[in-house]
Amino acid sequence: MKNIDTYNFSGKKALIRVDFNVPLNAEHVITDDTRIRAAIPTINKVLSGGGSVILMSHLGRPKDGPANKYSLKHLVAHLSQLLSLNVKFAEDCTGEKATSAATSLKPGDVLLLENLRFHKQEEAGAEEFAKQLASLGDVYINDAFGTAHRAHASTTIVAHFFPEEKMFGYVMSGELNSIDKVLKNAERPFTAIMGGAKVSGKISIITNLMDKVDNIIIGGGMSYTFAKALGGKVGSSLVEDDRIQTALDILSTAKEKGVNIYIPSDSICGDKFDNAAKTVHCLTIDIPDGYMGLDIGPQAEEEYASVIENSKTILWNGPMGVFEMSSFESGTKSVALAVAAATAKGAYSLVGGGDSVAAVNQFHLADKVSYVSTGGGALLEYMEGIELPGVKAIRE
Ligand code: AMP
Repeated sequence: MKNIDTYNFSGKKALIRVDFNVPLNAEHVITDDTRIRAAIPTINKVLSGGGSVILMSHLGRPKDGPANKYSLKHLVAHLSQLLSLNVKFAEDCTGEKATSAATSLKPGDVLLLENLRFHKQEEAGAEEFAKQLASLGDVYINDAFGTAHRAHASTTIVAHFFPEEKMFGYVMSGELNSIDKVLKNAERPFTAIMGGAKVSGKISIITNLMDKVDNIIIGGGMSYTFAKALGGKVGSSLVEDDRIQTALDILSTAKEKGVNIYIPSDSICGDKFDNAAKTVHCLTIDIPDGYMGLDIGPQAEEEYASVIENSKTILWNGPMGVFEMSSFESGTKSVALAVAAATAKGAYSLVGGGDSVAAVNQFHLADKVSYVSTGGGALLEYMEGIELPGVKAIRE
């Protein structure tokens, strides 16, 4: 497999799939440029090696072809500023406009193509469309981890037209190294912290982790399905009745495999799903009628912090409670602090999956953990043990 660090880009046109799916406000101003900044090292590597760059991405979910709202032209000025050069723009990602813009590129130039999803063929993974994209460059770099779980034309199919000249960019390799470090080379004790709303969304991940971890910490809404499965009284907490058996199966597999599984002993409960709810502190298996568990309690916080701080590898996905509401943020905050403390003591910590990333940001702890994944769905599928098509297409 080719490596971006050692590849000779001199005189080459690098076709790079980036994830520039950034939020724009009504005036088309970028409100969070994290994803654009993440791609800069890969772009600069090609440029400093004497190559030119052709960037392709999707933006939003356009339904019926081109729409101004989803045009990547809104990113040109900001990208130009970040790279300190004038980024060129092609009003289409294939066809005459793209071809002539790509042909005229000189070493040091950067071209941004219009939104890939203005063509239905992108998400359909159409071979002919991928071939047209491929014709623009000499070498293909996939640096879009966030879409690596999709077999789209630009993320997967296009790689087939570069049997040798294909590689990962720095965003991709950073994500893959970090997840592999946790899933394949974890130092023990290894603790997985699983939170979020529902058991149903996390079953495959928990099952895949069962052979790898020493401890599984459960928090968030899914705690109450476990508590009910154990015969507890859970009031009006979020419960997936059709997953009670799944929860019991998870508990018995954990026992068989010698994995310690932790359900929060106590909870902070509210009389409604509201920051201003009347709250009570009670055992998770004894929640009064009319109350719902909305955060783990102080005893669970203490117990969880101790398990986390004694771990050498930590994988955290999903909040411990409704952390968006200040009345129910304490559990998630204490877990975030414990992960940061363990990291300071030498543990490797990976935080990933939408809401746990939002949580570490909310508590200003993102730089106190080892790695914050930007992967979302791609990360979850990778953690489930699924081989991501975009990753496979580069490796095979
Ligand atoms: P997920 O997308 O499954 O990771 O779920 C994240 C969401 O779960 C967050 O928006 C939390 O507010 C929510 N959540 C966490 N704990 C609870 C709870 N005890 N009851 C209801 N929702 C919760």
